[in-house]
Amino acid sequence: MHMRDRLIYSIGVLLLMICTSWIPSMQEIQNLDKPIVVKTALEPLVEITYIAHASFKVSYKGKTILIDPYADKIWLGYNFPKEIQADAIFSTHPHYDHDGGLFLGKTPSWKDKIPFYTDPGSYQIGEITIKGIQGKHCDPYGKEFGQKNTIWVITMGSFTIVHLGDNGPLTNENYKALKEGIANIDVLMVPIDSQYHILKAKELQEVLKNLNPTVAIPMHYRIPELEGASDKPKDLGDITPYLKGKTNVDVLDSNTVSFLPEMAQSTLRYMVLKHAAEVTK
Ligand SMILES: [Zn+2]
Repeated sequence: MHMRDRLIYSIGVLLLMICTSWIPSMQEIQNLDKPIVVKTALEPLVEITYIAHASFKVSYKGKTILIDPYADKIWLGYNFPKEIQADAIFSTHPHYDHDGGLFLGKTPSWKDKIPFYTDPGSYQIGEITIKGIQGKHCDPYGKEFGQKNTIWVITMGSFTIVHLGDNGPLTNENYKALKEGIANIDVLMVPIDSQYHILKAKELQEVLKNLNPTVAIPMHYRIPELEGASDKPKDLGDITPYLKGKTNVDVLDSNTVSFLPEMAQSTLRYMVLKHAAEVTK
């Protein structure tokens, strides 16, 4: 990006944040090559770090959870970072691209070192509250483990993140359980790719409409620069064609984004994060 374009984009992001009141007490936004950091002495931040595929770290008040670590080079063409640190790991389901390959008998670097959770229920890591809701893996996949898929609802103060894993269309019961006790969903981590591998186009629209998140972070799409071949992984599409023509999209030049826990609700925006630099081919 040229200097002038970068400046225009920076101003655009700045205006967007002010207009949508994401960051009411902003003091400093750093260069977009680095994480968007908002420095404030008063409020703790919710920090989201994208690893790749469906894997994210979420940090709040000194604690970090890791969601859906994938296995090295199974189906996906790239490795999971070796030096991963977290206080707990939450996995949506036992597929290799979400559980580090445990179900297949692999030994990921974090095995027996970091507590690992996969079942529905309530969990507390510091001041991060995690609720697991029983969902169902999209058809026709996951029959080898009963199509189990746990949807994670992560609450920090009044800020809520939902990670859908590879869930299929949501049931009324799912919607009810998901929304119980929360004002709105600030960030939805949702599987989107141009081939609609997990949620079909109509199902995706339905989910976005009913959950009505402020920010949707797409996940579970092919990352061409990390893949060994242009036609792999099979059946998984890139994210770019899906975003084409949409105006409510922020493509960040960073894999980390920070939010204040008090975020005003606005109309849906897609936020596409870069994969972590530690992910290698
Ligand atoms: Zn998957």
